[in-house]
Amino acid sequence: MNAGGWKPGTPVSSNNEGEYPTVTGNRALKLEERLIFELGTRETCGVDLPEPKADAPNRLGKFARQQLIDLPGLSEPETVRHYTRLSRQNYAIDLGLFPLGSCTMKHNPRLNEKVARMPGFADVHPLQPVDTIKGALGVIDELSHWLIELTGMSAVAMSPKAGAHGELCGILCIRAALEARGDARKVVLVPESAHGTNPATAAFAGYEVEDIPADKDGRVDLEALKARLGPDVAGVMITNPNTCGLFERDMKAISDAVHAAGGLVYCDGANFNAIMGRVRPGDLGVDAMHINLHKTFSTPHGGGGPGSGPVVLSEALAPYAPLPFIVKDGETGEIHLVEEENVGDEFPGSFGRMTAFHGQMGMFTRALTYILSHGADGLRQASGDAVLNANYILRSLDDVLDAPFGEAGHCMHEALFSDNGFADGMSTLDVAKGLIDEGFHPMTMYFPLVVHGAMLVEPTETESKATLDQFVMAMRSLAERAKAGDETLKTAPHHAPRARLDEAQAARKPVLAWQGSVEG
Ligand SMILES: *Cc1c(COP(=O)(O)O)cnc(C)c1O
Repeated sequence: MNAGGWKPGTPVSSNNEGEYPTVTGNRALKLEERLIFELGTRETCGVDLPEPKADAPNRLGKFARQQLIDLPGLSEPETVRHYTRLSRQNYAIDLGLFPLGSCTMKHNPRLNEKVARMPGFADVHPLQPVDTIKGALGVIDELSHWLIELTGMSAVAMSPKAGAHGELCGILCIRAALEARGDARKVVLVPESAHGTNPATAAFAGYEVEDIPADKDGRVDLEALKARLGPDVAGVMITNPNTCGLFERDMKAISDAVHAAGGLVYCDGANFNAIMGRVRPGDLGVDAMHINLHKTFSTPHGGGGPGSGPVVLSEALAPYAPLPFIVKDGETGEIHLVEEENVGDEFPGSFGRMTAFHGQMGMFTRALTYILSHGADGLRQASGDAVLNANYILRSLDDVLDAPFGEAGHCMHEALFSDNGFADGMSTLDVAKGLIDEGFHPMTMYFPLVVHGAMLVEPTETESKATLDQFVMAMRSLAERAKAGDETLKTAPHHAPRARLDEAQAARKPVLAWQGSVEG
């Protein structure tokens, strides 16, 4: 085949100019990689299958294939090398700082992996008879216990499979609770600085979404919120700490006002890493909050593993939690599973089921290992160090970059900067691309929307002072170049295998299937 532009025996890349061109287009051990379809030939098969018997009856009739199957044909070593070469072009938390704000890209301790790989956990199957998975249910129950303990709430729904899925779970609990009292309300209030998943969740659950403005310090405007409350408001969704990296100091007053108006309070707990072991959302009047195990509790994410978004619930919402539910007998310690068949009187209000089974077992074992290996003091230190690291970055850069809420005091787990002061034509994107040349994954860009050209940096507690100093050095240089209008920054990255992609085109017209030709 080789339907593509590339033929073996020719350069793999046209990207081979520069001072020391190579004939292959590879750069030392940084290998260029073609699409898998271009590497193989359709006539090749990686395994030796027996020839079909000539006299075998054709049971496919007119559906029997007339042509080659058009799969990429590579031998096993060619396949292994293809994917290994691709994997080396990835950036990962195991390679260096990954400062994506709001994503909590912390180290994934290897102890977690060791425990998750123990056969008793790794090989458990959701369709096994309940009697044979008591240990796995015990793990879920113990993790539930610690999540409730850390958040000061009444119950936890373990099955949601990511933060946004947890938001949906919480909002459906709120809806079920309101419907149970015959008070179906229509509106969910969401502050301007909310994570995009918050309004999306409320809209998906059928609510009208209304914005609540931020005050000049980047927090929810309490008076504006109070003024909007009324009999049509089902509840609020508030991220705390918020996406400007600030703690919502009025959270208790917000909850009290919402409750007084008959509504319920959803808290987006994705940023729990900033307050873990220090603040219990239950004490702030929160009714439902998702916890991203893949952020706060170090389970791999960002291409490395599935999410997991358990939702802690207040006493008011606990009866509406989704099935299945694990219940431990207080006296005998016996654990049993509540599902549709045996729900009985225990959870009559449950709104139903969100996932086929119990959630992400592999993430539960990792998160519980993280919690138990850190202990109360360790978890508290992790949140403290995360906040300390973010403030170190804020104060190391606020003389060269505009920090919109820097005057308002300390930040929490992430430091927020804007493009204010950049030369004409220079943008946040240019700084992010420049960071790639300097060997760092870019920070979160253009989010939150309330800040122009936002750059949101979350170092987490993982990073040493030496790493932070290295990052600060790179950022200071990039900030100076952006302010001076350095044109070379507009074409960065210069050292990456690909420079600037047409991202709008890629998003609007994605090419999802091999089309048989690629320019060389
Ligand atoms: C990450 C994040 C979410 C969504 O979590 P997912 O697991 O990606 O669905 C929601 N809110 C905030 C503030 C987040 O940082």
